Amino acid sequence: MKNFDIVIIGAGPGGSFAAKAAAENGYSACILEKEELGDKGRYKACGGALAWELVEEIGFPEEKISRVIESLELHHVDGETFSKKGKGGVVWRSTFDKYLTDMAVDAGALLKEKEPMINVEKQDGLYEISTDRDKYTAKYVIAADGVNSLTLKLLKWPPFAKDNLVLTITEERKTATSNIDTHLGSDAVHLFFGIKNLITVGYAWLFPKADTITVGWGNQINLVSNSREEFKKFTALSFVKQALKNSTLEIFKPHLIPVGLRSKLYEDNVFAVGDAGGIVDPISGKGIPYAMMSGQIAIESIKTCENRDKLDKLGITYGRSLDRRFLKVLVAKRFTRDKIYQDEESLKKFLRLWESHRSSEIVMKKLMD
Ligand SMILES: Cc1cc2nc3c(=O)[nH]c(=O)nc-3n(C[C@H](O)[C@H](O)[C@H](O)COP(=O)(O)OP(=O)(O)OC[C@H]3O[C@@H](n4cnc5c(N)ncnc54)[C@H](O)[C@@H]3O)c2cc1C
Repeated sequence: MKNFDIVIIGAGPGGSFAAKAAAENGYSACILEKEELGDKGRYKACGGALAWELVEEIGFPEEKISRVIESLELHHVDGETFSKKGKGGVVWRSTFDKYLTDMAVDAGALLKEKEPMINVEKQDGLYEISTDRDKYTAKYVIAADGVNSLTLKLLKWPPFAKDNLVLTITEERKTATSNIDTHLGSDAVHLFFGIKNLITVGYAWLFPKADTITVGWGNQINLVSNSREEFKKFTALSFVKQALKNSTLEIFKPHLIPVGLRSKLYEDNVFAVGDAGGIVDPISGKGIPYAMMSGQIAIESIKTCENRDKLDKLGITYGRSLDRRFLKVLVAKRFTRDKIYQDEESLKKFLRLWESHRSSEIVMKKLMD
């Protein structure tokens, strides 16, 4: 039996940032990760788009960025296009996640990779966490094991509502860099919208990396009738077909994105962070920065409540800190999302506004009303 203050399940951005914060605050922390990490390790279906501020904040090396982006091209299938300027980077998640996990290990957290958690239960006031080869105990558990969180399933937390899940399909298609530069531009990512003729609630995308195009599609899961056919309809659009000509399929992967919160994010010393809690931007599907921040905020909440001897306030402290930092805006975005997809006119209005406003500004200033 190995004893820790905090056991973190999952070494995605949420788990790694929680582990880093835990170690920096003097807690003994262990991350359990079921896959192997690193460039040859687990593949994570993701656009991998990061805002430049995040790249700078964590000092992510520029040579590890697959493509620097200067604009977001927004296509409506009826032919109208919109362009949103802003610097960002597109990364492979295997590289990015390993960088974050290394930060956690450097700070003093213990990493157990290729060691899936298979059970968690409370015994005599402590959590007992079993993997396929060992047992661990901890006072606190951080559920950072993604949208399908086994941790929260085992602890019998309620699942996500169906209209809070987006089903995505990702294809990684290898091609010549010159092909990408010609068809997509050297520094742009492309998003595709259209309620009637493409996706009811969601969008599709082409995110170029150095010599690969990440082709993605995502629709609210309860509105999907045949995902492969719907994905095919996207790749048959003439712009997309041109860009994907002379490319070879390397990876095909379906995955879920949560676009609304779980009914709770804390209970009895267990914190849901990142995708496990549904802490994702419901309009864009951006989740990496929110996973990182929620992981860090969970640990800060523990520290604050322990220092003030107010452990009964852990849940409130976590919830309020999340709200103050960004959660209030994400919750408001969930309502705006319904307005955006109510008809083509509203969708166009949003795309027009998005060209020159941040989506948080559109939501908080009620520009869609
Ligand atoms: C198709 C797609 C495109 C996306 N594009 C973007 C984008 O461009 N930009 C952006 O910001 N966000 C994007 N997102 C969202 C982003 O990927 C997630 O929000 C983010 O990965 C959440 O991080 P996390 O740490 O909460 O969970 P995850 O990254 O899912 O990490 C969970 C970790 O837990 C591990 N795990 C699971 N079960 C166990 C277990 N039993 N034991 C041990 N370990 C376990 C997994 O192996 C994994 O490493 C996209 C998502 C999808 C699906």
